[in-house]
Amino acid sequence: MADWKNPPRLFIPGPVMVVDDVLQQLARPTLGHRGKEYAQLHGETVEMLKKILFTNQHVFLSTSSASGIWEAAVRNCVAPGETLLATGCGAFSDKWADVARSCGANVDELKVDWGKPVLPEMIDEKLATGKYAAITLVHNETSTGLMNPVAEISKMMKKKYPDVLVFVDTVSGMIGLPLKFDELGWDVAFASVQKAFAIPPGFAVAVVSNRALEKSKKVPSRGYYFNFELWADAAQKNQTLVTPSIPHIMALNYQCHKLVKEGMENVWKRHAKMADFVRSWAKEKFGLFCEEKYASNTLTAVKNTRGINVGEVISAVQKKHNTAFGNGYKKLKEQTFRIAHMGDITMDDLKELLGWIDEEIG
Ligand SMILES: *Cc1c(COP(=O)(O)O)cnc(C)c1O
Repeated sequence: MADWKNPPRLFIPGPVMVVDDVLQQLARPTLGHRGKEYAQLHGETVEMLKKILFTNQHVFLSTSSASGIWEAAVRNCVAPGETLLATGCGAFSDKWADVARSCGANVDELKVDWGKPVLPEMIDEKLATGKYAAITLVHNETSTGLMNPVAEISKMMKKKYPDVLVFVDTVSGMIGLPLKFDELGWDVAFASVQKAFAIPPGFAVAVVSNRALEKSKKVPSRGYYFNFELWADAAQKNQTLVTPSIPHIMALNYQCHKLVKEGMENVWKRHAKMADFVRSWAKEKFGLFCEEKYASNTLTAVKNTRGINVGEVISAVQKKHNTAFGNGYKKLKEQTFRIAHMGDITMDDLKELLGWIDEEIG
């Protein structure tokens, strides 16, 4: 078992490493969630998130992991009888389609091979049938280390299908990758905080467009806990519907101050620089799992071209240096391994990690 006084440094693609000053935010004295101090914390955090995500629409704080928002998008915004086009290019996007179906939605899937991106023309071809009320996209597919060309897809959607709602899982993309919500014309986008926000797990941020909120009001059986309309009512008072995880909001507030100060262009550049560094190493020593053009700026999925025993190397690095990186996801286990370069991970951290992997592979 991990020694909690000497926790391993995490380069797995979530939860990622959390620095001490952020951890301390989670230990601050608690507040009543209907009091003035809380409302101030909430309001300030949401205002900063609006700047960070380039939106004037609704930002909600959800005491759940991001998977809850997979359900929320479908249950709030897909009416009975409507059909959803779920795009899939890896484990997380595929899973979202399953979840949507389990919520009772009619779902058609548009799948590409793992490691390949979903392209605008593929979506265009499907939507041309006029059959779909909404689509799901994954911004950054964490199982394959791939960024989908969401800017191009969004441009096409705005031009040709302005009435189709766009739901985006940007769980491992948000803040690490360029994301201007209003400009992209998205309707629901969300992330867990244990990815690029670099906060311990258990909390999510969701952005919801005005039109998605309006539409949700007409959709029956939306339930309670993830009900956008009830969320919006509470948000007007700078509150959440139910008692939130206030420690997470304190940590999120703290991280948002840092992000606003740094400026998002710089934050995105910082991630791109770390990604370049890890990708160059990966290309020299191994290969990339996906085409370089689509390789993610928040994590790298390295193709195990040398046939190393990935599990053994991970164990050795963990044992000697108390540091963890990720094996491949499910069916990509041993064929790939994954290194996160997001949040508060630095270039120095990465140099150290790659040096240790080099020592093991000889
Ligand atoms: C991590 C991840 C999820 C799941 O997030 P939870 O916090 O476990 O709900 C979903 N989608 C992507 C792309 C992810 O990286």
